[in-house]
Amino acid sequence: MTIRNLLASVAFSMATFSLNAWNHAEEYLNGIQWEKPAIITPGESDSQPPSDAIVLFNGQDLNNWKNGENWTVKDGVIFAGKGPITSQEEFGDCQLHIEWSAPSEVKGDGQGRGNSGVFLMGKYEIQVLDSYDNETYYDGQAGAIYKQTPPMVNAMRKPGEWNSYDIIWTAPRFNEDGSLKSPAYMTALHNGVVILNHFELKGDTPFNRPPAYNMHGETGPISLQDHGNPVRFRNIWVRPIKPAQGEQVRAPFLRDGDKETPIQQQELKKLERPKNQAVEPIQ
Ligand code: MG
Repeated sequence: MTIRNLLASVAFSMATFSLNAWNHAEEYLNGIQWEKPAIITPGESDSQPPSDAIVLFNGQDLNNWKNGENWTVKDGVIFAGKGPITSQEEFGDCQLHIEWSAPSEVKGDGQGRGNSGVFLMGKYEIQVLDSYDNETYYDGQAGAIYKQTPPMVNAMRKPGEWNSYDIIWTAPRFNEDGSLKSPAYMTALHNGVVILNHFELKGDTPFNRPPAYNMHGETGPISLQDHGNPVRFRNIWVRPIKPAQGEQVRAPFLRDGDKETPIQQQELKKLERPKNQAVEPIQ
């Protein structure tokens, strides 16, 4: 071994030792007292509701919906009818599971083929459309936030086959004067494939004007659109969600046996990402 290699080896060992000393001698504790996460039972499959879900349609009837009398339930599935249906119950931040199928008999094209929509809070549409081998404007195809963004990919199954949406919704917040406090966000999976990743909505999703936020309550209904096509739906359930709850009961510190060392504010700052700093996409 040359002197140079020997010195490099010693330097490496010292660096490893100090790293290990940091890792093993002192434990980092964040000083937050967390509440125990609720225990729930998942569904037997990912399409089935977990034990804490609110089931909006279980194959029986449309009792949980307004205007249900104008849609049809047959063979355990809903057929879109006249006018939208709107859930009786309202939701804010939530997880929504819904399955839908475009008609197996292909009629029309573009926006006229298998069109419906899932509206969060009755205002913000993720598009339902037969987008299997069916060209239309991209921010109007299945999985689009209508007129705001296309889905990242087209994960559509063939007409007549069942599609699923798993949606994670963050409701917008408003200040008392009606101004926007924080926008809505949607993450969505189409047949298990991520199509929207924490997409920031620019407002509601009308056909004939730009998106806009107009102050509304903290909760709103789920609506399904009537666009004149007999789209089918099944297995619809919702889970209201909220962040894990915890209280900062003391400042963060390092613990080594009985020795506790508060972490200096400047050290903590180095660990934090500056607020409002955009994360650049990696191409
Ligand atoms: Mg639609």
